[in-house]
Amino acid sequence: MDYQNLIDGAWVSCGTAVPNVNPSDTTDVLGHAAQAGIEEMTQAISAADAAAQGWAASTPQQRFDVLDFIGTEILSNAQALGKLLSREEGKTLPEGIGEVTRAGHIFKFFAGEALRQTGDLLASVRPGVGIDVTRDPMGVVGLITPWNFPIAIPAWKVAPALAYGNAVVLKPAELVPGCAHALAQIIAKSDLPKGVFNLVLGLGSELGPTLINDPRVTAISFTGSVPTGRGIAAACGAQLKKVQLEMGGKNPLVVLDDADLETAVEVALNGSFFSTGQRCTASSRLIVTQGIHDRFVARLTERMRALKVDHALGDGVQMGPVVDARQLAQNLEYVQIAKDQGAQVIGGARVTRETEGFYMEPALITDTTNDMRINREEVFGPVATVIKVADFDTAVRVANDTEFGLSAGICTQSLKHATLFKAQAQAGMVMVNLPTAGVDYHVPFGGTKGSSFGSREQGRYAAEFYTKVKTAYTGV
Ligand code: NAD
Repeated sequence: MDYQNLIDGAWVSCGTAVPNVNPSDTTDVLGHAAQAGIEEMTQAISAADAAAQGWAASTPQQRFDVLDFIGTEILSNAQALGKLLSREEGKTLPEGIGEVTRAGHIFKFFAGEALRQTGDLLASVRPGVGIDVTRDPMGVVGLITPWNFPIAIPAWKVAPALAYGNAVVLKPAELVPGCAHALAQIIAKSDLPKGVFNLVLGLGSELGPTLINDPRVTAISFTGSVPTGRGIAAACGAQLKKVQLEMGGKNPLVVLDDADLETAVEVALNGSFFSTGQRCTASSRLIVTQGIHDRFVARLTERMRALKVDHALGDGVQMGPVVDARQLAQNLEYVQIAKDQGAQVIGGARVTRETEGFYMEPALITDTTNDMRINREEVFGPVATVIKVADFDTAVRVANDTEFGLSAGICTQSLKHATLFKAQAQAGMVMVNLPTAGVDYHVPFGGTKGSSFGSREQGRYAAEFYTKVKTAYTGV
């Protein structure tokens, strides 16, 4: 399979193409991805710019029809797309199908949002004047996405962008061209006019600056790592360009003495290790009060050791491989760093399976303190630490003692502590007796502090980013 760029409604291949390798089985090459250069990126921006006005003038019905069609196509192909996703990124098949389903629902949600446009009609403070406040599309938006949710994240940027009348240039992550291409194929089958949606595949470091610095691109929505995000924010700031960043996490899960043990263990297991821990919302710091600590660690260890780690498409597999060799090396390095700083490590070794892939055991790292490197820096793998604390107040202080603020969770049966935690946690999303990862598609998503910048994604809040407000005065 060749993955091509979609530029102005045409499939465009380039001179070079790189293999797309299955992390569960490195002998399985899914296809080859065209690597666009600056010329193709510029063509895509030109196409979007030429198409933007027409799409901005489209009716809510046209937008609904296009988005609803895309959602339906995604949902009716969920099995095949889920399999592609699992082969390409390494999520288990149920996780892959789940992500695809979510992407379909996102398009359906924003199809509805296209119809539910609102504005304000106000009386002026002056006699004989009326005021209406409406939202205009931004124009051409640049969307830059990471590898860990190869269809859901493109969906949650592309769908609102189109629903609110923008033209799009999507630059997906290098590791997952297949899902982006499959999404583009579906979009190309819809009635969306050519040029409104463009896909450009290739190196972020090369294509990113062209997308970000082109004055015709009025807004950039980015999800990815902190260093890349900071660079993009600086470039956009210099141009006074609207920017939205979703970046890393070091998400705490607090477990209090009064928690239901089985619930807490299930929540931690899911939050820390599912999707191979490769979720920005993964629970990476388990902050456990002393009365439940030993029982919690013992039971979580037992459950973690029983997780079936293998080929993402295998029957009953609960954790697939790490996405690539580089990420695997980084995970193993962090496990070693924790050991070197005096922590105890359970699991966390590289393992082999029948097929050659990037497999590792999930790791539970106990006897850690919050100042250790393993608790300060994002690993982005199936690695969770345990920090023992005396009481609720200390737990909250430790939970908040991080540069990140994406998601935070607590397991407790105390209404008082759940309520206080929701109020005091410095995070964009707070979970009570639920994993820090796993969110709904119809409500805002995003963080605080170093995790996010700009307005929220998803739900109705997405309108903040994808539109600009206009206040019109009419004298009568
Ligand atoms: P990354 O920053 O390496 O890459 C993300 C995207 O940016 C890719 O498409 C890449 O090609 C592009 N890019 C790279 N250099 C660029 C440049 N100079 N200019 C413009 N674009 C450039 O991140 P990744 O490794 O793909 O993803 C993992 C990271 O994403 C983790 O830190 C994770 O926490 C984060 N993430 C955050 C969220 C969230 O919503 N907060 C969700 C998923 C992943």
